[in-house]
Amino acid sequence: MWMSIDEIQDSVQRKVKKRRYQHILGVRFTAQALAMRFGEDIMKAGYAGALHDCAKYLSDKEMLLACRKRQIFCSEIEKRQPSLLHAKLGAAFAKEVYGITDEEILSAIRWHTTGKPGMTDLEKIVFIADYIEPGRKMLPRMEEIRKVSFQNLDKAMYLILDNTLSYLEEGNAKDKDTIDSYSVDAYDYYKERNGAV
Ligand code: FE
Ligand code: FE
Repeated sequence: MWMSIDEIQDSVQRKVKKRRYQHILGVRFTAQALAMRFGEDIMKAGYAGALHDCAKYLSDKEMLLACRKRQIFCSEIEKRQPSLLHAKLGAAFAKEVYGITDEEILSAIRWHTTGKPGMTDLEKIVFIADYIEPGRKMLPRMEEIRKVSFQNLDKAMYLILDNTLSYLEEGNAKDKDTIDSYSVDAYDYYKERNGAV
């Protein structure tokens, strides 16, 4: 049997900074609330939320090294922006360190940063919870996105990806090179799903 969610939470707490830990708690409870709303597995949402940033304490160099050690593929964008790798490594650590074998939980951790087309509801829930948890600072349209998240997961995906991509595009040229192609594909996918052109 897996470690209890509270044991996991305590172990993660010892590794990450206090502010990150508060964020992780926020994501755990928000993901569970969304799971209740949409009839998803509350336990799985809790595990995925508690573990989603469990690799985020590593430095850029350590992330690249940890990927090499496990033969985890790193794209050019990930090599330029190794912090993106905390999602792939988070899923790897969830399995290795915490013994999580459930593929739905692991893939919700894997896709929480970039998103991708055709996500499962659990994947969407963790992605959305990461963005809307109560401790997040107020971003543009946050009130609307929080409300929509409890009404329509696909619409919330579209609004969040739209916000994230336009934020990155408005930034400097360096940021443009760090937009993961999965996020762009996910944006196109959820835009079409919502009938927006
Ligand atoms: Fe993250
Ligand atoms: Fe996070």
